[in-house]
Amino acid sequence: MIYLDNNATTKPSDAVVQAMERALKEAWANPSSVHRAGQAARREIDLARAQIAQLLGGVSARTITFTSGATESINLAIRGVLVAMPPTKRTIITSPIEHEAIRDLCVALQGELDAFAVKHMPVSREGVVDASALESLIDESTGLVSVQWANNETGAIQPVDEVARICKVRKVLFHSDATQVIGKLLMPSELQCDLLSCSAHKFHGPKGVGVLHVREGLGIRPQVWGVQELGRRGGTENVPGIVGMGAAAREAIAWLADERNREAVATLRDQFERGVLQRVEGSVVIGTGADRLWNTTNIAFPHLEAEALLMLLSESGVAASAGAACSSGSLDPSPVLLAMGVPEPVAHGAVRFSLSRETTAQEIDNAIDIVARCVAKLRS
Ligand code: PLP
Repeated sequence: MIYLDNNATTKPSDAVVQAMERALKEAWANPSSVHRAGQAARREIDLARAQIAQLLGGVSARTITFTSGATESINLAIRGVLVAMPPTKRTIITSPIEHEAIRDLCVALQGELDAFAVKHMPVSREGVVDASALESLIDESTGLVSVQWANNETGAIQPVDEVARICKVRKVLFHSDATQVIGKLLMPSELQCDLLSCSAHKFHGPKGVGVLHVREGLGIRPQVWGVQELGRRGGTENVPGIVGMGAAAREAIAWLADERNREAVATLRDQFERGVLQRVEGSVVIGTGADRLWNTTNIAFPHLEAEALLMLLSESGVAASAGAACSSGSLDPSPVLLAMGVPEPVAHGAVRFSLSRETTAQEIDNAIDIVARCVAKLRS
């Protein structure tokens, strides 16, 4: 299988699998126990926390809370901040191109939280939020701004620096869903956001473990009560998962240190786009005008159903996705693409191909050929 669905999840690396196996066999004690076995498990967690803090640009390890993944981190960040705010400050400003974890949470909070309100920043045709609109959207009711670092469907990198600068000046908290960038981009040495969410399985770590970074000095209300993780997230820690995330962080730090690694995959992604555009008449790449993640391309085959194409691709040995993985199986076009103004017949035929640091030139050559043949077959 040529696996081009790395924004949905990545394959755990050999080092990650080995580290987790070792943790399961040797660090199985409860990290809260005072005996030596418990303390050995605690040290494993501390080590992983330090590695992840380094991957996040060198934040303090104390700012890292382990969760079950980005979805939980996002829920903890947004609920944890807004519940603690007075009802007069419960407006969130976000964007229509966020992951469902945020979009659906905002819908749910409308029925749950007194005086909760949502405002949306506008998005360009390239899939980039308009940070300048934030100035006029922020008012005294704003409790939090939440903008993703990069989009999971198009790879468009968002103007987080500018959003962070405005939030700082206007004294509003800023959360960024950085799930698609952690392990893919070097983080600035001083993170400008107050809260940041990410997940291990997007950078060759295991599923079911993630992190919420909360700037030092900022209090948030836990959503799962208990003593662990400084009281921020109760529950005995997922030691093998955390160890796996730490190992994945260590590998990502080494890989990111050499810029040529990213350039090499970006070149493969560009070759893939060029090859498909040449071979498939009428195909279009969505959001090319944006600064994009090196691994992502979203190519539309207008008037085809993406689901039909995905199934044929899968039978022919290529794994890809339509929009967000979680919405696969639904015939609705991606709300993210619609929010960018992509016309419905085009959005219906949009397929996301996402490479990884393991994708090879041979795989890309073969994938171009397979995509061209599958589209031709469906069209005929
Ligand atoms: N945010 C973004 C941008 C994502 O791409 C994903 C995963 O698809 C998530 C959040 C949710 O991550 P998790 O699967 O770890 O809950």
